[in-house]
Amino acid sequence: MLEKESFKLLLEALEQLEIGFQRMPEFNSVYELDNLRTVLLEVATRMQDNFPYPHPLYVGQMLKPPHPIARLAYMLSLWINPNNHALDGGRASTFMEKETVQEIAKMFGWKTHLGHLCGGGTIANLEALWVAGKVKPGLKIVASEQSHYTHERICGVLGLPFTSVKSDCQGRIDVNALENLLKAGDVGTVVVTMGTTATGSVDPLPAILELRSQYNFRIHADAAYGGYFTLANNLAETTRAAFDCLSAVDSLVIDPHKHGLQPYGCGCVIFSDPTVGAFYQHECPFTYFTSSELHLGEISLECSRPGASAVALWATQRLLPYTLEGQFATELSKSRTAALALWQKIQADGRFIVPFIPELDILVWTPRAKSASIASQLAKDIFTQAAKNNLHLAIAHLPIEFFINIYPEMQRDQDQITCLRSCLMKPEHLDWIDEIWQLLENSYLQTTPN
Ligand SMILES: *Cc1c(COP(=O)(O)O)cnc(C)c1O
Repeated sequence: MLEKESFKLLLEALEQLEIGFQRMPEFNSVYELDNLRTVLLEVATRMQDNFPYPHPLYVGQMLKPPHPIARLAYMLSLWINPNNHALDGGRASTFMEKETVQEIAKMFGWKTHLGHLCGGGTIANLEALWVAGKVKPGLKIVASEQSHYTHERICGVLGLPFTSVKSDCQGRIDVNALENLLKAGDVGTVVVTMGTTATGSVDPLPAILELRSQYNFRIHADAAYGGYFTLANNLAETTRAAFDCLSAVDSLVIDPHKHGLQPYGCGCVIFSDPTVGAFYQHECPFTYFTSSELHLGEISLECSRPGASAVALWATQRLLPYTLEGQFATELSKSRTAALALWQKIQADGRFIVPFIPELDILVWTPRAKSASIASQLAKDIFTQAAKNNLHLAIAHLPIEFFINIYPEMQRDQDQITCLRSCLMKPEHLDWIDEIWQLLENSYLQTTPN
């Protein structure tokens, strides 16, 4: 199950890296290989206690294995262990980081930008909302009910007022409800989610841009999950239209560690107005900013950051550039095709309620039942049974409206439904849809009484 072939390249690459440091006198690190071996094998045994994330039958949470090139480049860089806080801590990896962020900005059609990599979507959103609060002091941040819970929490950390906006039955922000809020005149920033974490729903950015011309607010796009789908060639028309106007937002967050084939610890925040860099200004007596070129630590809230993340992302972009018909784009399109294929099967079957066609590659559904509580219990039982059959799904809690909308006969004895959820993130998923469906159906049959 674990890819090992590519590992052989690491030794060759390390020798190449070493050439750059031949001028230094020899020295040896002190360690006992045997002791390392004992501990490392213990680690390997401990790590067996995991779900099989890299396998196509893992269709649960947002977990996608990093590309072998990302793994190798990350490991290779650890022999240097660069710190992208400053050029003095990692020269090559700082330049590589600037190039990777440039590629991300280019993918969204941005002409100017300021941005950097960071620990993940949470920190990236924190920086974007921190800047939003500086540009629009005292004004509210609003985001839909289906936006990531991180926004409300971040606003708490930053001391910014936050209000959530109703979402519609497709999991998108309700534009009328948003406009009603805007009329009060105290909204500074609207968070637009480009692919919600629960269902992959994409907020209607074109309509929100229209509102902006009237109400003058800032737009922050949380594309942590969905951002890369701008490269897909098989989005629905409304989804496509939303992605096509991303160049008009003020800030954007994307997680290369979600759909960008990177190990965890790789998020990215970009701003369309480079002058927001001034908000980051600080003075520090021990700084090691010894060159006049921009050090990423001057435009980042985090200080020490792994140069390894930049090196891994750079290598991945080099191998799989963000071009429209390239392999990277094709594989993302395949993920949506896989979600549509599974949607087709579940939807046609009649034993399940599927609230809507997946906009990206996330699918939610629940068994048809007399009441919301029975459906929820069944969903949990199927989840458990499926795992016994080696099919690893996820569960989600969603507003009952999503499901009643499709199946009004269901008794509304609670406001939320526990449903099944699948993120079909791996390109291999498409070839496994029949197998996945078969295991799902078996699990359903083993779970339901008759
Ligand atoms: C995952 C996610 C986040 C949080 O990002 P982390 O990388 O997990 O910190 C924020 N917003 C959305 C839409 C996400 O999907």
